[in-house]
Amino acid sequence: MAKLLEGKFLAEKIKEELKSQVSSLGRRPVLASIIAGDNAGAESYAKSQKKTAESLGIEYQFHKLDSSISEPALVEFIHKLNDEKTVNGVIIQMPLPPQIDYKKISGCIAPDKDVEGMHPANIGKIVFGKARILPCTAAAVMELLNSSGIGLRGKEAVIVGHSEIVGKPLALLLLDKFATTTVCHIGTSEAGKLEEHVKKAEVLIVAVGRAGLIKGEWIKEGAVVIDVGINRVADKIVGDVGFEEAEKRASYITPVPGGVGPLTVTMLMRNVVEAAKLQ
Ligand code: NAD
Repeated sequence: MAKLLEGKFLAEKIKEELKSQVSSLGRRPVLASIIAGDNAGAESYAKSQKKTAESLGIEYQFHKLDSSISEPALVEFIHKLNDEKTVNGVIIQMPLPPQIDYKKISGCIAPDKDVEGMHPANIGKIVFGKARILPCTAAAVMELLNSSGIGLRGKEAVIVGHSEIVGKPLALLLLDKFATTTVCHIGTSEAGKLEEHVKKAEVLIVAVGRAGLIKGEWIKEGAVVIDVGINRVADKIVGDVGFEEAEKRASYITPVPGGVGPLTVTMLMRNVVEAAKLQ
């Protein structure tokens, strides 16, 4: 039976380290959070970020903008935060109103204040193994793998999902650890080859958002399984991997909820502290 990789315990440990780093900075790092328009989900997510930030001694500034804001006006607002010396990190909450192009907007955040780690300059640094600010979910996965104690060098690592926030940066991070890395996506499924790739994975990371996509029977004996997926099925939150069967085969597996999720916000806070150190 697999051991559970529970993000909340690791998150507590990392938060303790962050608290002491914040106190040795000698000033409160400031995270500016932008919400454009009314969205209950985004507001509740921001509230939980605020709570975590404040528990670490990070000031959380909330900037609520009108849903009718134009793209140029939002760009100007971000530039002001970039120029504001007291602000260390900027985060834009999703979803944005339809007139705003997220990719364009997120590229306007100064790279050393880009605490989501999604600026092309920060993504580019991952290629060279020099990134200090990493995309939060990919960083959370790497922390969980590290905590399992599994050596990644030479391992068959398979990622399912090639999004910009998870799969693609993760592939670079795994390559940096010398894992033999395969990235699967919708094209892999269309070609009928997903099962074949998953079955050879010694380390499997799934980030798709489709409950039951990965059958528990496909999991290799002793594999480490990280399930990033979040799906609501009949009032329950489940991942992308058939947990019950996978748990019997894997050596380590993340529960959903309680695996990657609790660590993601901790990685955001780590980026804020890192940004404050960089500036
Ligand atoms: P996305 O929609 O941007 O990307 C989905 C990926 O899955 C794509 O690469 C697509 O090609 C692939 N895909 C879709 N259908 C497939 C299929 N049938 N077979 C194989 N691949 C398929 O998604 P995302 O933003 O990366 O999020 C993925 C999941 O992870 C979602 O459930 C999301 O809620 C969750 N998520 C969780 C956290 C967390 O902190 N726990 C953070 C981010 C995302």
